[in-house]
Amino acid sequence: MADCIFCKIAQGEIPANIVFENEQVIVFHDIKPAAPVHVLIVPKKHISDAMALDQDADGPAIAWVLFQAAAEAARLLGVDKKGFRLINNCGKDGGQTIDHIHMHLIGGITLGEGLI
Ligand code: 5GP
Ligand code: ZN
Repeated sequence: MADCIFCKIAQGEIPANIVFENEQVIVFHDIKPAAPVHVLIVPKKHISDAMALDQDADGPAIAWVLFQAAAEAARLLGVDKKGFRLINNCGKDGGQTIDHIHMHLIGGITLGEGLI
């Protein structure tokens, strides 16, 4: 989609520090990390958010791909054994700032029990 930062990163038009990618998904480091490990897991297909994923014919496949990519990224980044947190912000109240669905993988620190 035009003017979507994550579509542009997925298409190689904007640089990013990429952890890995395949046909369906790209994983790259967040530009403003909130933890020692903070990457974004982004499907290459433009889907705006979790509510749109539910309405998309590719939704089930993409949801699976996001979790697969999270596990692969956790292994590559060395947080698979100690654990990590996956976050999806949806919409205004959810704090979503980029309208292309993504998951944050955050780790490398003991996050403990907070709001969630
Ligand atoms: P959201 O608030 O939508 O859940 O998360 C968007 C995330 O994208 C934020 O953590 C923000 O730091 C990150 N971000 C925004 N623009 C860029 C960019 O151009 N490159 C990278 N690597 N991350 C970005
Ligand atoms: Zn997009």
